[in-house]
Amino acid sequence: MQVLKTAEGVKECGVGYFRAGLWKPRTHPGNFEGAGAAAIPWMQKARDEFGLKICTEVANREHARACIDAGFDMLWIGARTTVNTFQVQELAEALKGTGTPIFVKNPVSRDIGLWSGAVERLISSGVRNIGLIHRGFPSFEKTRYRNLPEWQAAIEMRGIFPDLPMICDPSHIAGDSSLVAEIAQQALDLGLDGLMIECHCNPEAALSDPLQQLTPESLSELLGSLRLRDTDTEDKAYQARLAELRSMIDAYDDAILYALSQRMEASREIGKIKREHNISILQLARWDELMEKAIISGKEKGLSEEFVRDIFNEIHKASVISQKN
Ligand code: PEP
Ligand code: MN
Repeated sequence: MQVLKTAEGVKECGVGYFRAGLWKPRTHPGNFEGAGAAAIPWMQKARDEFGLKICTEVANREHARACIDAGFDMLWIGARTTVNTFQVQELAEALKGTGTPIFVKNPVSRDIGLWSGAVERLISSGVRNIGLIHRGFPSFEKTRYRNLPEWQAAIEMRGIFPDLPMICDPSHIAGDSSLVAEIAQQALDLGLDGLMIECHCNPEAALSDPLQQLTPESLSELLGSLRLRDTDTEDKAYQARLAELRSMIDAYDDAILYALSQRMEASREIGKIKREHNISILQLARWDELMEKAIISGKEKGLSEEFVRDIFNEIHKASVISQKN
């Protein structure tokens, strides 16, 4: 059987958890939707035979109850479910008081509020042992990834819930087995706490997402190639250099804030004289010119157009508001 054969391969890679989708949300009807509750004994067998902890995706109260009763070691809420407050609420009710770890995947749209809201809903319902899974975001643009990594979103979410473990699902970001390793490494470089990687004993025969499945052999190779980063070191030279660089950053930040406050002052003064001469605040031609100059000057200094545009748009917004006052 595919499940047990894969479980055996995964165990040989030294992996601790075994994931399999019992209930698979599929975009189109008629695709393989998982074996459902009938697969619970297969998962229990994988656990008993190979000493693996078992986990799966749950999307409603029946799924959650069945898995909790069957002693699953971890469950996750899929990207399509995270967006649905009613489903998250009913999952919260089923999970409350059980202690079963529940991981929340980022939603299918790049909306941190939807992701953090789902987590808040679990917390406020009394659910404990919550974790996060970063699986990237779909994009209309054609990119080499199935889902864009958008690491910034993961970092933002980390900032909101610094105490929750966050793992990465590089398989769903990649959509292609040849890209999984580089994304897995990036996730570790950013300090994420673990990886959920799809593996199949015979990827070509996989009933879902065959292109992104690794064989147990390639999973083992990938795991062997990953470089784990330390979070800290006793190395004195490193610590001294880090302190020096950090104090430089602090000084630059001060200089940026000082320059911004001076700029704002000049801008308020402009607002004042415009009012005195009955001139409208927003003068788009001037703004376009200023932005163009900033982008060119930024490029000369090694700053990307997107970065300069974002910063100047924020500055412009604040400056228009201050001129109105
Ligand atoms: C999955 O993990 O198999 C899955 C369907 O993922 P997602 O919810 O991220 O699409
Ligand atoms: Mn999938």
